[in-house]
Amino acid sequence: MRFKGEKALERLLDDPLQAIQDSEIICLLCGQPFQSLYAHLHTHQVSPDEYKRLIGYKDGVFLIARGKTPEFVKTARAQVISENVDGYWDATLSEDVNCQNIAGVFGITEKQIWKLYTGDSQLKKMRETPYRAIGKQSITCLECGKKFRSLTTDHLRTHGLDTWAEYKTKWAYAQHTQLNSHSAFIDYIIGRDRKIVTKRWNARGWQGRPCTVDDVISLWDVSKTREENLDAIGEQFDLCWGEIIHLFMGKKHPKKLQLMELMDKSSQHSQQEQCSAKKSTANLLSVDEYEELSKLLALGTDPDIAALKLGIQPNTVKEYTKRQKKAQRNSEKISRLKADPMAAINNTTITCLVNS
Ligand SMILES: [Zn+2]
Ligand SMILES: [Zn+2]
Repeated sequence: MRFKGEKALERLLDDPLQAIQDSEIICLLCGQPFQSLYAHLHTHQVSPDEYKRLIGYKDGVFLIARGKTPEFVKTARAQVISENVDGYWDATLSEDVNCQNIAGVFGITEKQIWKLYTGDSQLKKMRETPYRAIGKQSITCLECGKKFRSLTTDHLRTHGLDTWAEYKTKWAYAQHTQLNSHSAFIDYIIGRDRKIVTKRWNARGWQGRPCTVDDVISLWDVSKTREENLDAIGEQFDLCWGEIIHLFMGKKHPKKLQLMELMDKSSQHSQQEQCSAKKSTANLLSVDEYEELSKLLALGTDPDIAALKLGIQPNTVKEYTKRQKKAQRNSEKISRLKADPMAAINNTTITCLVNS
């Protein structure tokens, strides 16, 4: 047994996080080093929680040497962090200092904290106000948080959602929403409406445009979505979406940026309150319930008990499990086909192997 000197122990009591080291954690009641304190604390007749309060550790601290953390503790730690990291974030301090502090508390690297903090909180925000997920260059999948130029049905299938409509209902997007980043949306609409635009503008003459870029900018209402704005302006001037977007094309590049700026403001502001209200009825589960349920089931909780715990219908849990299984089967199928791409082509269908 190796005892730390009285002075060393006192120093550690002033800064108890120093007692959690890579290869050992020092018990600040007796000064002995261990890999984990959980069993040892019985000899002092204190519980881990009492010990943490006594020494001044925050709740999320694990009483285990950093480098010795077994795999299951790492998982638990990740969970604790994703739940509590907001509580430790001090808005009066810089991001760097926050990351340093929180990393110290949880005994993991600053980089990991940063990723957890930004990744989690941004996705949460987007799930509450789904139009935020649509950005200038990318759209974020609200199921997994990955970014794309456009959301494809192939990708949605990996989450057990078969159609865009299903995804839009689940996340309370209006059905006419295009699941494209603004730049992809512009390209798509220009391609889609090319024929009608050429025909109508040729008939009108290119000088006889019924409205200008400035009209569009002054009429654009950022509390409405991109699609609603195009509908409203189109109705007023008898224009299709492609014709409006065409006003912003041409040689002057900044115009297109202006249009993207308008669209981006719209996705920041549009329908925020409506979204959360709609979502609670349209959705199978709220975002919190969804996360809670996946956690419970991952821990091997009985589905009926999980339903009881969350106060939801057992059928909802069944539906959730069904979707998860479907998503898994689908991704397994795709990876099988990727290994043998010829098998993706059969008599009546060909399976798309991109984006899964
Ligand atoms: Zn001890
Ligand atoms: Zn996804």
